[in-house]
Amino acid sequence: MKQTEKVIIISAPSGAGKTTIVKYILQKFALFEFSVSVTTRKPRIGEVNGTDYYFVNKEEFEQLIIENKLIEKEEVYEGLYYGTLKSEIERIWNAKKLVIFEVDVMGGLNLKRYFKEKALSIFIMPPSIDILKQRLLDRKSETDETLKSRLKKAEYELQFAKEFDSIIINDNLSLAIKDIEKVINQFVK
Ligand code: 5GP
Repeated sequence: MKQTEKVIIISAPSGAGKTTIVKYILQKFALFEFSVSVTTRKPRIGEVNGTDYYFVNKEEFEQLIIENKLIEKEEVYEGLYYGTLKSEIERIWNAKKLVIFEVDVMGGLNLKRYFKEKALSIFIMPPSIDILKQRLLDRKSETDETLKSRLKKAEYELQFAKEFDSIIINDNLSLAIKDIEKVINQFVK
């Protein structure tokens, strides 16, 4: 295996803190580059096309599937599709960097199956469902309905934590970051 052909998969229920952790890793390890996913969800305020996601409509997403351009895809929430582009891996590996994915739990398991020993899959575990709920409320981007569906999905996803290479409990962010640095350093050395 070429040293550079590696990927790190970060998965967690929504609100477990994975975006913060991914941002930290990207800042700390210059070696990593974020794989920008494609989604049919509308951009949130401040999100940039091509940086946070490639924002597409349903027809464009279906076209990507037909052309076999996605490694994995999920209907993460009802009617909202997300997928990992093959072209992102080529782009990042060609630049001699390592890929970091931030995907939902099912997507994480699928990517691990695809990349096998080239991948380190990490599950970010929220300390409890109550804390997860509070974090989602603090984010103020959820309606009653999306909050409910995110919590329901989180409970389902927690069952799959043990299928990941590593589980990091995000009770205290700085401790979680220390733990994650340890597993990443071991994987990349
Ligand atoms: P959000 O809409 O909050 O940005 O993301 C919703 C969920 O979709 C998050 O759990 C995020 O990690 C996940 N997600 C983002 N991109 C992908 C992808 O390419 N594939 C899959 N399976 N999930 C993704």
